[in-house]
Amino acid sequence: MTDIQANIDSIRQDFPILETQVYKHPLVYLDNAATTQKPRQVIEKIEEGYRRQNANVHRGVHFLSQMATEAHEDARRCVASFLNSSSEREIIFTRGTTESINLVAFSFGEKFVSEGDEIIVTEMEHHSNIVPWQMLCQRKGAVLKVVPFNDRGELDLQVLSSLLGQRTRLVAVAHVSNTLGTVNPVAEIIRTCHEAGVPVLVDGAQSVPHQTIDVQVLDADFYVFSGHKVYGPTGIGVLYGKEKWLEQMPPYQGGGEMIATVSFEKTTYNELPYKFEAGTPDFIGSTALAEAIRYVQRIGMDNIRRYESDLLQYATRQLMQIDGMRIFGQAGNKESVISMQVGKIHPYDMGTLLDKLGIALRTGHHCAEPVMRHFGIESTLRASFALYNTKAEVDYLVEGIRKVRNLFE
Ligand code: PLP
Repeated sequence: MTDIQANIDSIRQDFPILETQVYKHPLVYLDNAATTQKPRQVIEKIEEGYRRQNANVHRGVHFLSQMATEAHEDARRCVASFLNSSSEREIIFTRGTTESINLVAFSFGEKFVSEGDEIIVTEMEHHSNIVPWQMLCQRKGAVLKVVPFNDRGELDLQVLSSLLGQRTRLVAVAHVSNTLGTVNPVAEIIRTCHEAGVPVLVDGAQSVPHQTIDVQVLDADFYVFSGHKVYGPTGIGVLYGKEKWLEQMPPYQGGGEMIATVSFEKTTYNELPYKFEAGTPDFIGSTALAEAIRYVQRIGMDNIRRYESDLLQYATRQLMQIDGMRIFGQAGNKESVISMQVGKIHPYDMGTLLDKLGIALRTGHHCAEPVMRHFGIESTLRASFALYNTKAEVDYLVEGIRKVRNLFE
């Protein structure tokens, strides 16, 4: 366990990119909800993978292939323990959150969704947790229902209860909103849904980097996340699914790895988790993801949560003192994201000018157009924090926003 505050300099030194100068200013990277930077331990693991361990996994009798296979399966055990899944058979490697959700929407949908059935999502979902369900509904003639949020950015759970019915087949909800920062009470949501006999998929893209996740305590049916948002590489992600669902679901894609036997008359499928992993897996990515997980575990997820929560509160207080500041998302329980607008300054202009000061923020609809529509806006300026950010960086951001605002005035 590492006290982040006391060790912030050495933690920052783990991330080589943080030494970058942008237009002669030190980089202040506050776009962590889009993707996080990588510690050298992860970068070195990728290099080591290609230098010393590169061979295709699973069917090789030779030394390198066995080493690569062991590392890949060790990564699966690492993810299983990180999420506290009861078995590594429940851990499917995918390309990321988006592919994990598409896999469930297709495969669960094939088996369990028919004409007239209902899927429930929320108004604050990322497009990745809307569009695959919409496509499923179109394919099957099912109906998409939506749980709204209030102006603070909190879900209306009474509406959720009222929507759950005989035809509800699944509820899909973000653990943490990438736009509002709201931490949704997913344990309570899952309990409510299970009382109605409905399984729940939790989009953990924005929660896994910031807090301890225990899929058994949550009792989630499906839990998904992306490696690149938790200091791991791009192109690798995870689908956790309860064995009882995964066993019943048909394969998502066909190809190598996912089969037991193939003939032109009949193909039989592999056991879990391989049934859902057609083709050569990203075995370098999986081992690097495991390295990223070990990195955050060494620091301690509870330490990360405490440190980032303090940073978020500090940033919120400082930003609110700026004239004309409007923050979207004021939920009682928030994590790591501040979406804002300053007076009448377009977020794109603000973001572009802050970039000239070395500050990396995201502007736009953040792949959550329904959230923008809720507030009658088109875009926000979003700052999102990671374990290597500091209060000094927040001060620099606040000073930068003030400078830009003065320029406009
Ligand atoms: N869900 C949420 C809440 C997100 O924030 C994101 C990415 O920003 C995604 C899903 C999609 O993640 P990916 O693009 O890594 O698949």
